[in-house]
This record gives sequence, structure tokens and C-alpha cells, in this order.
Amino acid sequence: ALDKLFPRKTLGFFPSPIHKLERLSEMLGTEIWAKRDDVSSGLAFGGNKIRKLEWLVADALAKGCDTLVSIGNIQSNHTRQVCAAAAAVGMKSYTVQETWLEWDDPVYDKVGNILLTRIMGGNPIMAGYGYSTTEKDTWAKALEEVRAKGGKPYPIPAGASDHPLGGLGYANFADEVAMQEQQLGIFFDNIVVATCTGSTQAGMVVGFAAQDKRRRVIGIDTADDEAMTRRAVTKIANDTSELIASKGGKKVALKDADIEIIPDYSGPAYGLPSEQTIAAIRTAAEMEAMLTDPVYEGKSIDGLIDMAKKGHFKGERVLYVHLGGAPALNAYYKAFEDPEN
Ligand code: PLP
Repeated sequence: ALDKLFPRKTLGFFPSPIHKLERLSEMLGTEIWAKRDDVSSGLAFGGNKIRKLEWLVADALAKGCDTLVSIGNIQSNHTRQVCAAAAAVGMKSYTVQETWLEWDDPVYDKVGNILLTRIMGGNPIMAGYGYSTTEKDTWAKALEEVRAKGGKPYPIPAGASDHPLGGLGYANFADEVAMQEQQLGIFFDNIVVATCTGSTQAGMVVGFAAQDKRRRVIGIDTADDEAMTRRAVTKIANDTSELIASKGGKKVALKDADIEIIPDYSGPAYGLPSEQTIAAIRTAAEMEAMLTDPVYEGKSIDGLIDMAKKGHFKGERVLYVHLGGAPALNAYYKAFEDPEN
């Protein structure tokens, strides 16, 4: 019901579908469902940023901005979704696409997300090196470039996360889940979700904390930096909670224990899959035809499968939130090459 407190521009098909993962549930002896934010928008394959951008784009339009400016790595799902949202509302987009060389492949900067950005008429700027969510001068330069051309830029930080409105999409997601639970007559004791720049998990933590019945929100770190992820989620959760309260929404008191981050599945580094990540991606694909990527969802599905196998969810119901990312798979074809096929 945050729509009543903040302007929102519809960019997706919500509520996103929810369904049981029948074969995985049977294999793991745990009832596992999926909420499919990977198929919740018609904008260039969608993903979790669409849900966040609904609130930022409404703000950008209200402020008379004409260009969305953001930043991510070359295969960023986020920058592709920023470009998609801009195209769909008739704005321009400039996206800094950071160069990091750990994934050495001649088509890495040509296929997958970056290809979609180019097809949509975006302006990808290949610049910058290394991963962090802190503000970059490359981003500031892109903003300046838009201003110099007479445009009015709307700055969107990495992952649409460290932005005053960044947590609203997934705070509202909690209400959507509660509504679907009511329709299905079930309750999810555990929410499992990939976490990186933080506003997906932070929004969920705030949204679910406002509900009467408590549950766990388990963030599977993908940044491979637990401390950084925890700082980001904590800050955004507190900011989002205050923002909602300032508009008359329910004030929630968050405790450190509400921010649960599992660091065990993020290696060997951000953006790089382990053998176990790839094995988990194959399992979800072979058993459910559910495609997950080596950067984010492959790591969260690995965490889900491994934790279920270790008995973490005995007798409880789990909701795996699929945040998108499959468009990056083409860029990672090498991870799935099979010498025999
Ligand atoms: N999953 C996918 C597919 C993503 O593109 C992202 C983006 O960073 C995430 C998970 C992590 O979400 P967040 O950055 O909001 O923590």
C-alpha cells in the first residue's frame, strides 16, 4: 500500500507470479516456492531493478528530468533495466559500464546485457575499473556530459540502491507477498534472496517487519564482501523505514538480527562463479527449467539448495525470490562448455 504514500510509475506486471518448485522440493525434502521477479516485466527481460525503478522514474518525471544516468559493470542487469525504463517512458539514458578483466572473453563486452542496452538506443560508456558501490567520478562525468548537452539528468546510483527511494520497491513487495499468501492460504517462514548493493534485501526487511507475523529474510551475499553488504543493507533499511514513517506509514524498529547475510556462497569473487555455483545453476535448470546466472541468482540458488540439504529449513516453507539476471548468461557461455557435447 505504499502507492498511497509515494508516486509510482508502472513498469511491470505485478504481482509477479509465485509457484511451487515441485521437483526441487521433493529432492530437498523442503517445501520451496519461487517468486518470479525475473518474469515480472515486459521491458527487455525485466528483473529486480524494474520494481525499484517504478518509484525513481515517477520521481524523475515529476522533477522534469529527461535522462537517467547510472553505473554498473559491463554485464550489469541494472544498467540494462535503467536503459529499458528510460526507453519505455521516452527518456534518454547514459550508463557507465565499468571494465573489469577477471572474466576474459572477447565477447564479454558485446553480448548479453550490453547488447540489449545497445539495441534499445542507450548510451553505454565503457569506463572505470573495479567493483564498489561508492560514488565514482566516471558517474559524475556522465552527469556533467548530459548537463553540458542541455539535458536534465536524473542520477541513479549502482543498483538503484543508495538512493532515498531505492528501498520502496521491495518494501512494497512484502505487501504483495502477504496478499498472495492470503490467496494461497499459506505462509512463507523464510525468504531467500540474493543481495549485493542492498536495497532489495533492505526493502524486504522493512516491508516484512511491518507485518504482524515475523519471518526470516535471508540474504545470500553476492558481492563477496559481507561487511560491505551488511553496511549497505543496514543503511538503506534504516533510511527506508524513516522515509515511510515520515509520510505516515508504519514505523518499524529494526534490530541488527533482522539483517541476515550469508557469506558462504559468494566466492571466488563478485561476478565470478565457483564450481558449486555452476552446479547449482545446472540443477535449477535441469529440474525446474529455471534459469539463474553466475553473478547473482546462481549464488542464491546454491545457498538455498545447500542450506536445505543441511537441514536449515526442516518443517518450514521457503520462498526463493528470483531477481532476474539470465540475460547475462550468454556472456558466461564458457562456464557451461561441455567437451562431450
Ligand atoms: N540479482 C540480480 C539478477 C541482480 O541484477 C542484482 C543487482 O545487483 C541483485 C540480485 C542484487 O540486488 P541488490 O543490488 O538490490 O542487492
